[in-house]
Amino acid sequence: MNILVTGGAGFIGSNFIKYMLSKYDYTIVNLDLLTYAGNLQNLKDIEHEERYHFVKGDICDRDLLSKLFHQYDIQAVIHFAAESHVDRSIDEPEVFLKTNVFGTQALLDTAKHYWKVHKLDKYCTEYKDDVKFIQISTDEVYGALGKEGYFTEKTNLSPNSPYSASKASADLMVRAYYETYKLPAVITRCSNNYGPYQYPEKLIPLVISQALNNLPIPVYGDGKQVRDWLYVEDHCSAIDSVFHNGRIGEVYNIGGNNEKENIETIKFILNYLNKSEDLIEFVEDRLGHDRRYAIANTKISEELGWVPSNTFNDGLSKTIQWYLENRKWTMSHISNANKTSKKH
Ligand code: NAD
Repeated sequence: MNILVTGGAGFIGSNFIKYMLSKYDYTIVNLDLLTYAGNLQNLKDIEHEERYHFVKGDICDRDLLSKLFHQYDIQAVIHFAAESHVDRSIDEPEVFLKTNVFGTQALLDTAKHYWKVHKLDKYCTEYKDDVKFIQISTDEVYGALGKEGYFTEKTNLSPNSPYSASKASADLMVRAYYETYKLPAVITRCSNNYGPYQYPEKLIPLVISQALNNLPIPVYGDGKQVRDWLYVEDHCSAIDSVFHNGRIGEVYNIGGNNEKENIETIKFILNYLNKSEDLIEFVEDRLGHDRRYAIANTKISEELGWVPSNTFNDGLSKTIQWYLENRKWTMSHISNANKTSKKH
């Protein structure tokens, strides 16, 4: 099978490509624009694999998308590419709309056109079984929870940041293409990921990187915002389950069953690295900061038998260890990102 993975040079996408190539005999085409968040170093160990092809390009480029679908006879799309950082979306929402909404629509259109001509069954009424579009989304589309309760797939969409609004809009387009054109699509919505190869602007790698350099660790508000943490390898296995066995037209939530206050997570990291809590510096809270996210895994576990296999302590210990052993990766990523940012 030939799969188009978008955003495969980013954090989750790069982990996912390696996971899939090691488990299946599929060919993967990775389309990535290499923004500040994309890094080909993440894929160094598989770059010479015959079944792996990297293409630098924009998901908004319809000519390029059409060329790739024809050239590689794409049967499935797993769509990670996005602007993904909430803070950046508050400063500059426009690029979030462009990539996350219009880029998703360009992909949907290309898949629709190509699959309609090349991937209908012999009666020309339904798509062949392996044809699929997987939209990788976020629990942030549901908004924020109070002290109790969980997001389920039936929770109303109520996004609070420009980032989550753009992801919710993309999800609605995916849903509309399924309802209107019967495009075989599935949406996954996961909680906060952590693990190797995450760009150090997100909480966990940021705290590790600041602590290793004995620099202050900025903490928004009182630090008591609750996040549910999902180890990236568990996320990859969940997408694998949904990709192979998920029902078309459905949404699957994916959580790690690890609800933690941010301040707890930060203290765990400082303690692991034997650093003082004096590095913590409380700063003014982020605009519209969601207080609590928590996901119910009931649907994916009951229907597909998927459960996360890493506890937070194990996953976080492995993550810190990876950043300790890959300090060069962090340095080179930041310096590449600085070069990219200067171009814009
Ligand atoms: P990331 O920021 O690490 O990677 C995004 C990748 O997309 C980068 O490699 C970037 O170069 C690429 N990209 C950006 N714009 C592009 C464009 N126009 N064309 C082609 N490529 C482009 O993101 P991530 O953390 O790996 O997240 C992947 C997906 O998972 C995103 O859709 C995100 O919304 C979703 N998600 C992430 C998390 C998380 O905790 N990281 C949680 C929930 C959902």
